[in-house]
Amino acid sequence: MENKKKIIIAIDGFSSCGKSTFAKAIAAQLGYIFIDTGAMYRAVTLYALENGIISGAEFNAEAVVEALPHINISFKFNPQRGASDIYVNGEYAEERIRGIDVSNMVSRVSSIREVREKLVALQQQMGHERGVVMDGRDIGTVVFPDAELKIYMTADARVRAERRYAELKAKGDGVTFEQVLENVISRDKADMTRAISPLRRADDAIELDNSYMSVEEQMAWFMKQYEQVVG
Ligand code: C5P
Repeated sequence: MENKKKIIIAIDGFSSCGKSTFAKAIAAQLGYIFIDTGAMYRAVTLYALENGIISGAEFNAEAVVEALPHINISFKFNPQRGASDIYVNGEYAEERIRGIDVSNMVSRVSSIREVREKLVALQQQMGHERGVVMDGRDIGTVVFPDAELKIYMTADARVRAERRYAELKAKGDGVTFEQVLENVISRDKADMTRAISPLRRADDAIELDNSYMSVEEQMAWFMKQYEQVVG
């Protein structure tokens, strides 16, 4: 793989579609860096929640924007997970960003223009040498419209909620299936209807519905697409 041209692989799609699992497998196969952009929006949300800037009851977008210069996001590769963990101001945050409180607020935080500008600039910087797999909602449309390979992932909402529910339950989170399903559906709606960089399929993206596909089947499908681009 090393001799082949390094490209950018953009993976966009609905929440809990298995984008990260798929992107991680691709990165391992190609020796690429995997960047989970959702984790970055979650990290800003976590900071805002933990510092009392937003709460379930109150949402002050201006206060979030004012806090932005104080939020430093970085990644550190964790060989055990085979992916990078996220740090907020140098503090490990990988697990805290996945809780339901963050999930419930992240779509509102990610609809703030200044938040997107800051994170998009950071993502473009991280991918400027190419050789990256980036997953998110706007990678193929806004962050890297020139990505050589764009994949748009979809899956049935109940299948997605079941996957996310199993993950959270395994971690001991007391959330119910209905809460997870509601979160998945409301985030899809918020992500698709927001004014700035809404989730949409880039015209040149290839669609992958993985509702009933194993990771191995997805990888076999991916390698065919990759070979066509890189040869
Ligand atoms: O990918 P994940 O579900 O962890 O993303 C969390 C949220 O972050 C999404 O629901 C969306 O609101 C936001 N997001 C975004 N743009 C991205 C990645 C995530 O707006 N590129």
